[in-house]
Amino acid sequence: MTAETAVVDVAANLAEVRRRIAAACREVGRDPAEVTLVAVAKAQPPARILAALEAGQRVFGENYVQEAARRWPELRRRFPDVELHMVGALQTNKAEEAVALFDVIQTVDRERLAARLARAMEKRGRRLPVMVEVNTGEEPQKAGVAPAEVDGFVRLCRETYGLDVVGLMAIPPVDEDVALHTALLKKLAARNGLAAVSVGMSADFEVAVRFGATHVRVGTAIFGPRPPRAQRGSGSEPGSAS
Ligand SMILES: *Cc1c(COP(=O)(O)O)cnc(C)c1O
Repeated sequence: MTAETAVVDVAANLAEVRRRIAAACREVGRDPAEVTLVAVAKAQPPARILAALEAGQRVFGENYVQEAARRWPELRRRFPDVELHMVGALQTNKAEEAVALFDVIQTVDRERLAARLARAMEKRGRRLPVMVEVNTGEEPQKAGVAPAEVDGFVRLCRETYGLDVVGLMAIPPVDEDVALHTALLKKLAARNGLAAVSVGMSADFEVAVRFGATHVRVGTAIFGPRPPRAQRGSGSEPGSAS
């Protein structure tokens, strides 16, 4: 049985992830309503996404503009209250398409992208909330603004480009404790007056919730393992990391 055809009980997985988020909230006295579960659908078979929608999930994350463009216009007709977050690296030349497709852009990480998004939003008359991606681990190969540059970059996004910056997002190093990165992100967000903190994935979302994440981005714990590239057909874009 291939990953594509493996039976995954998406509804049960979703219920379990929601239960774990609520339990993590209770441990630290947070209201579970403060935490948005973003179901990251990249590279997942359409049947699993549909199962999540049918189980009531409405907030989804995608990493690739092309993949999102193939799926969501049709799904939105059936589920008009879907909220779609861009959580992957966004190429400047796809900014306009992203503004048309998504409801939140979580990965603003450089001035050129901020400028292009602002122009696209103006053109389309659609002012989306955005988050600034922070490279909390200061990893050279990774996208995101360095922690020391966050204040200046948030100000630039707001004042020069008029973007509606609502929060900060990070993809911490895999081998480090997400608690430290969440705490840092939370501190940077607070001093910039930003409410949203997007951090925590399948392996560590409960820790992120305990340390104050408002958005957790969970893929495999809901949808099961992503099928290997060979099975995805045209589902992945060359050169993009998954
Ligand atoms: C793939 C991805 C996720 C989800 O990862 P899982 O380990 O499958 O939960 C979250 N955030 C980003 C930015 C991703 O690319």
